Formats: sequence, structure tokens, C-alpha cells
Amino acid sequence: MTNKKKRMVIALGGNALGNTLPEQMQAVKITSKAIVDLMEEGCELVIVHGNGPQVGIINNAMTDYAHHIQSTCLTPLSVCGAMSQAYVGYDLQNSLREEFLNRQLTPPPIATIITQTRVDADDPAFTEPTKPIGTFMTKEEAREAAGERGWIVKEDAGRGYRRVVASPKPKEIIELSAIRAMMNDGALVICTGGGGIPVISEGNHLAGAVAVLDKDLSAALLAESLDADYLFILTAVEKAAVNFGKPDQKWLDHMTVAEAEQYCREGQFAPGSMLPKVQACINFAKSGKGRTAMISLLEKAKEALRNETGTTISL
Ligand code: ADP
Ligand code: MG
Repeated sequence: MTNKKKRMVIALGGNALGNTLPEQMQAVKITSKAIVDLMEEGCELVIVHGNGPQVGIINNAMTDYAHHIQSTCLTPLSVCGAMSQAYVGYDLQNSLREEFLNRQLTPPPIATIITQTRVDADDPAFTEPTKPIGTFMTKEEAREAAGERGWIVKEDAGRGYRRVVASPKPKEIIELSAIRAMMNDGALVICTGGGGIPVISEGNHLAGAVAVLDKDLSAALLAESLDADYLFILTAVEKAAVNFGKPDQKWLDHMTVAEAEQYCREGQFAPGSMLPKVQACINFAKSGKGRTAMISLLEKAKEALRNETGTTISL
């Protein structure tokens, strides 16, 4: 009889980390409880997380710093991404260790892997950047940034101007074998933060791309590449819904891939929030037999794993 542990990639959303440094310090305590709960249920876990607010803080700080010292040398977005992975990894490593110890459990080896995700240079997303990042600018500041720094700037819903960057599709997790080796050795690995640092292959060189990735799509690629049993997207809602926010809203317990694809075509899921999650679930569920994707509330992770709540997506 084998009692093989179920391999699961979890994707943590914004609510798992908060928006500021003190918020993150508090939020990771709740997040660590959810993660250790899942491990106590017998899952072998890999943790992926978003990094929007964190990379935003770092990017703004580095831009201000360059301005302060009157340097034209800006920190590339890819480097800001690496910094954010290390920062989030540090807080998670620390609070996870504490949660294991609080439960009188010996913590497994816990480590963060700075992760690069390869994207295609000819991904169509690069021709039409859409993802706003950084602080708001006046028209004048936007014109200056476009000229001096070569930024692409767009007006953001009447609130001012912002830099926009591309959000290409994740193609390959560069550090996959390191992640797999550590997992196979019993480690709890935190990786692919913010979907990974987007890089473009140029011969032997991996060049940081001016782009941001969707962490849910990268988590699905990682789950597929690790031959995981589950992709579990933990967010701020218990389930995905159709007619979301309308009087006839209906929470979904289960979707087949075909149903999920149909709902996507109907525009049931908001682009930029629920749509990429459902798309990630579809990608993973389609990638092999017996693969189940789940979406649920961070605080109810254990209940969702026991099928008491959450939305599941499978073939
Ligand atoms: P995360 O930070 O976890 O990636 P997002 O805010 O990007 O979270 O996406 C999750 C949010 O998507 C939910 O909190 C909910 O407000 C919103 N949402 C949009 N459409 C739907 C839908 N059809 N069903 C459920 N939630 C939806
Ligand atoms: Mg999101």
C-alpha cells in the first residue's frame, strides 16, 4: 500500500500579504496557518505568491532614490521583481517556521527560490502593453518619463498618467529542476513570486523583460511542470460565481473545463481578477488526467480541500 502525498501548488493572492510592510507582517501569520493546515492534511506543497504591492513599493523607492541622487540609472523592473521575491520569501519563511513551532511540529526545510520565468520576445503582449504600474503622473511628468526613460505611458481612467508594461504568457520556469529537487527532498519551497521574473532568452543570456506576469498563470505552468495533483488558488472569495455582483449571482461548486471555457466566453469573470484564475485552472486541468484546480478563500483552505467549500475545475 502506498500512501503517496498529494502534490499541490498553491497561489497566494493579494490578501495573503497585504499592501504595506506592517500589513504583510500580520497577514503572513494567517497565511501560514492556512499553509500548515494544508500540510497537516497530508499535502506536499509549493507556494507561489503575487507581488503587485511589494514590487510597486520597491519600484517607487528605487525610482525616488535615482531621482534623489540625480542618477539616470534606474533599477530595472526585473531587479525590483527579484527584490520582491526575496522580501516576501523572508516574511513567509519566518512566519511558517513559527507556525510549525507553535503547533509543536518540527518545521521542514523552508526556503525561497528566486525564480525566472521565460517569456517569448515575440509575444503579442509586447506590442500593446496594458498593465499599469508605479505611481500616477501628471501629463507633464508623463511626457518627461516617456522622453528620458523611454517609458510607455497611458492615461489611467481619468486619474492621471501611469507607466504601462506588457503582460506576456509564461512559457518556462527556469529554476524548475531546483524547485523539484528541493521538493523531492522534503522541503517547503516558496517560488515563482509575482509569476516569476520575466526573462527573454538571448543565446546563453536571460535578459530581464520589461513586463509583469500573472501569478495564477505561472502557478498553473509550475503545477503542470511539477506533475502536481492540485493547483489551489487562494484568494479573497470562497468561490467563483456567474452573474457576479448581480441579483441572480450563483456561486459555483464545480465546473468542467468545457463549462469554464463557456463561462469565460460569456464574460462571466472579470479580466485582471477572476478571469486569469479560471484560465489558469483550465490550463492546469487540461494538462493531464486526474488534475484538479481549486479556487477558494485563504481562510477556508482546509475546508475547500475537504470539499466543503470552494470551486473545483476538472476535465
Ligand atoms: P488575487 O489578489 O487573489 O489575485 P484578485 O482581486 O485579482 O485576487 O481576484 C479575486 C477577486 O475577483 C475576488 O475577490 C472578486 O472580488 C473578483 N471577482 C471578479 N469576478 C468574479 C466572479 N465571477 N466570481 C468571483 N469573484 C470574482
Ligand atoms: Mg489577481
